[in-house]
Amino acid sequence: MMRTHLCGELDESNVGEQVTVAGWVNRRREHSQHLAFVDLRDHSGIVQCVVDNTVDVRSEYVVKVSGTVTRRPEGTANESLATGQIEITEATVEVLSAAEPPPFPLDERADEVDEMVRLRYRYLDLRRERMQRNLRIHSQVNAAIRAAMVRQGFVEVETPMLMPTTPEGAREFVVPSRQQPGSFYALPQSPQLYKQLLMVGGLDRYFQIARCLRDEDLRADRQYEFMQLDMEMSFVDVDDVLAAVEESVLDAAEAVTGVRPDAVPRIAWHDAMNRFGTDKPDLRFELELIELTDVFAETEFKAFASAGAIKGLNARGAAADWGRNKLDGLTDTAKSFGAKGMVWMKVGAEGDDGVLVLDSPVAKFLSDTERKSLVERTAAEPGDLLLLIADEWHTTCEVLGELRNRLGRPPVNEGPYRYLWVVDFPMFVGVDDATGRPKPGHHPFCHPHPEDIPKLESDPMSVRAWAYDLVLNGWELGSGSIRIHDRELQKRVFAVLGVEDDEAEARFGFFLNPFRYGAPPHGGFAYGMERLVAILAGEENIREIIAFPKPQSGLDPMTGAPTEIDPDQLAELGVRVLPPIE
Ligand code: ASP
Repeated sequence: MMRTHLCGELDESNVGEQVTVAGWVNRRREHSQHLAFVDLRDHSGIVQCVVDNTVDVRSEYVVKVSGTVTRRPEGTANESLATGQIEITEATVEVLSAAEPPPFPLDERADEVDEMVRLRYRYLDLRRERMQRNLRIHSQVNAAIRAAMVRQGFVEVETPMLMPTTPEGAREFVVPSRQQPGSFYALPQSPQLYKQLLMVGGLDRYFQIARCLRDEDLRADRQYEFMQLDMEMSFVDVDDVLAAVEESVLDAAEAVTGVRPDAVPRIAWHDAMNRFGTDKPDLRFELELIELTDVFAETEFKAFASAGAIKGLNARGAAADWGRNKLDGLTDTAKSFGAKGMVWMKVGAEGDDGVLVLDSPVAKFLSDTERKSLVERTAAEPGDLLLLIADEWHTTCEVLGELRNRLGRPPVNEGPYRYLWVVDFPMFVGVDDATGRPKPGHHPFCHPHPEDIPKLESDPMSVRAWAYDLVLNGWELGSGSIRIHDRELQKRVFAVLGVEDDEAEARFGFFLNPFRYGAPPHGGFAYGMERLVAILAGEENIREIIAFPKPQSGLDPMTGAPTEIDPDQLAELGVRVLPPIE
């Protein structure tokens, strides 16, 4: 038998037993003239072994140790180790694999090591407790979610990796076809089209833990490839979809933390923008946006007079922390998010007129009434810092949302966990510069809110969609919608987007034509597994919970991917590589 126990599971109940354990040498220390300590590590933990010091083992050697579990001598117990009360004595050691010294220490000191080094030797990095823990949490989450979906009657179906390009919005990875030179498959941004066709196919409830690929710049919460819990269901309304998704997310959270979160609250997109300035509000801190448009309705201050919406934040007690330079920096931030400027005011003590004095470059432009109402509306007190933005509504909200996060948002992985549904997203956002037409808010297959369908052509930007997001601690976990199953309505939506019938037929015919044959009303959702797992694991970067992630550059320091390929292979694919564009 290779081993009788795991290193980390031995304790006082095993005293006297003959055991065999196997693993990596975490550390070797000399004990006495004849004896050495070997700390042996496997995924479960570390156990101390007392061995003959002539044995040649060093850090990261793979060994098998047999011996007797013995209580450690009085006064030598190690309280910080789960196995710290015992050790394996009279141990014999068999070396299974010698090891070169690792390029970095495989303990918590590796957290300080350059990430590129960790990724280059990821197979060593994975031996560390942090990575072992994170990957196991990931597996636990997968298991909990799969169980929740199956329990709710969802059928797991796999969909192709090689598919046509689709209009889902992200840049796609493409794969050249050998059989059809000059033609390309796209790798799935998501299984969106297939899952809807599964509904046409009568599957009723589908799910998949699906790999999705998007060629977008990498960030702390974004990789080229990532896993989604992807689901779709027939004969449902918004509430049904949210309930099914919520069940799986709460089960996963409970599996990891031992605590089931409360039912997830809902907020309409418009309210989320108004109150938090973002479609992914972080509810862990207050600092809500304060409506001030009416306060300045009669203003003579030019920058305010022409604005569609004026709102502000009251950073309580923050005036002293924000010197001129820092405020200039914040103003630059506001401008980088599209604001024309930012007004700040430091709230001072009461003035002669009994109203708090506002210390600000623009204070002189405000009337006494405005100053009084502003103090009242923001419930300002001496020492507070007020930040005001005046612009068209969307910019005002968005910029203040950004400032709100800069002022108050804790790191994403800090508790508590605050989940939130954001519902009733707009059907269209912004205008496509090229076509002058509205752009889809999510994708063109979302069902408009029935109340708003009459406004599709006359006032498209005010149309809400049956589309919703799930947010956790300010990260968007996922999105979904009720889909259009009626061809006429789909045509109307395409027309708003400027996609004519012929073009729709040419681009999405393979997807739309099946709807001629009887499509059930359906809707679904998908959320990023890595984002959920990272937050539950207390990590701020999804790379920490992925076995083999890519760094920001997209270049894999371990395998060297992407690499050039053989001219013959290129020729077979009918691909010629051009010199880089100057
Ligand atoms: N396929 C969508 C996405 O990946 C989710 C959905 O609408 O179900 O964002």
